[in-house]
Amino acid sequence: MAPAEFRAIGHTLIDMVAQWLEALPSQPVTRAETPTQVRDALDASRSLPAAGVAAGPLLEKAARLLFDHSLVNGHPRFFGYITSSPAPIGMLGDLLAAAINANAGAWRLAPMASEVEGQAVRWIAELLGYRPGCGGLFVSGGNMANIVGFYAARAAAGEAWRIRSAGVAAADARRLRVYASAETHTWVQKAADLSGLGTDAIRWIATDDTLRLDTAMLRETMAADVAAGDVPMIVIGTAGSVSTGAVDPLFAIADICREMGTWFHVDGAYGALAAALPDAPRDLQALHLADSVAIDPHKWLYAPLEAGCLLARDPDVLRAAFSYHPAYYHFSDGDGINYVDLGPQNSRGFRALKVWLALQHAGADGYRRMIGDDCALAARLYATAEAHPELDAGTLGLSIATFRYVPPDVRDTIGTADTDAYLDALNEDLLDCVQRSGEAFVSNAVVRGRYLLRACIVNINTGEADVDALPGIVVGIGRELHAKRRAGGAGA
Ligand SMILES: *Cc1c(COP(=O)(O)O)cnc(C)c1O
Repeated sequence: MAPAEFRAIGHTLIDMVAQWLEALPSQPVTRAETPTQVRDALDASRSLPAAGVAAGPLLEKAARLLFDHSLVNGHPRFFGYITSSPAPIGMLGDLLAAAINANAGAWRLAPMASEVEGQAVRWIAELLGYRPGCGGLFVSGGNMANIVGFYAARAAAGEAWRIRSAGVAAADARRLRVYASAETHTWVQKAADLSGLGTDAIRWIATDDTLRLDTAMLRETMAADVAAGDVPMIVIGTAGSVSTGAVDPLFAIADICREMGTWFHVDGAYGALAAALPDAPRDLQALHLADSVAIDPHKWLYAPLEAGCLLARDPDVLRAAFSYHPAYYHFSDGDGINYVDLGPQNSRGFRALKVWLALQHAGADGYRRMIGDDCALAARLYATAEAHPELDAGTLGLSIATFRYVPPDVRDTIGTADTDAYLDALNEDLLDCVQRSGEAFVSNAVVRGRYLLRACIVNINTGEADVDALPGIVVGIGRELHAKRRAGGAGA
């Protein structure tokens, strides 16, 4: 591609994207097409053309396909999952990062990119109140960030029998145990499985009625395992659970881990950044007590996908879990960090740039305001659901509100098995219809056996009007579905 063509096509693409972004609020959140419809639009089954095609029309066609057949998680009415709207400066950052194409595995191959990554990691740690001098690196997302923390804990716990070389089944190996509440995200099963511990190594700790880990049960379970000769490897506290935004009692968990000499990991993929708020839940002030913390810049730092980040007590605990020194790498550039030593990846892209740009563009105060706004919008939605005669409010945690539709004529029989089953089925149906409507997008949570609609607000584009529109959309569709079920004879 000639430089002049690159410039012309690039300008056109930016114009198309800018126009699309401006028009977003008036477009549906999703067109809810079937896989067949999307494949037809793509002409999915054709073979790779032997001859190349002109880049300009190709990019325009690609943009049209994506604009017209995507679910847009930056839409002001996307409340579905903890997937944020992308910061525009992050979009441009990804373009710049791709142009440089830094390989941020080794300092010598990526001098400035490595330093930018180090600075971004340090700034994130500052926002959370995590330890100065900590280690950390960017990975693909929350799952990988948590898994990196898990492997650091595994290396530390199995050091006595050199687990990295001898493995979990070495002659002198002991059974490693993992402690997490049932509200923990499924990354923990993947980590236990992939690491050779097996998911049976996980001790599922009960939660209290606010869905926070029960520390009395944690203590008892760990003591019983130690008595049986097992090694407690890691305790996982969640800072903002994926379902309801619950924050575990992190101070109390930190105490137990200190007493037992066990690695304390916090899954803060969603909620850790709320620690930057002046009125944050108190337990978020305990993050500095953790040996490792996973956070997700593609959530509350509004980075375009993908960007996860793992912070650890110091860089050496990550080196102790991941570093090798093969003959074909001779990197020693003073104290420049070779990120290949701190995590599982070898070649590494420049994920840090979009985050580093967004952090400075908004500043710490900007992030406090944006995260605070998301929480305030969720609280507003929760209050509306509480006051609405046809809605039941469920839970409110950080920026997640749960609620359900309750037709007036079944309210009196809530608590009976028939009505409870009816409300679960009705709301499940309702969720599907709301999603398909394209008017707004919510997801679901199951809280103490009840099926609830779940709105997560991690969105710089969402305003009060968007949140205020949701109850009307839900109730409108709910009434229709209830009437249809009644007419069809499906009674409560
Ligand atoms: C989102 C989330 C994850 C997974 O993060 P990904 O970026 O989707 O890999 C893990 N834990 C919690 C609490 C989350 O909210």
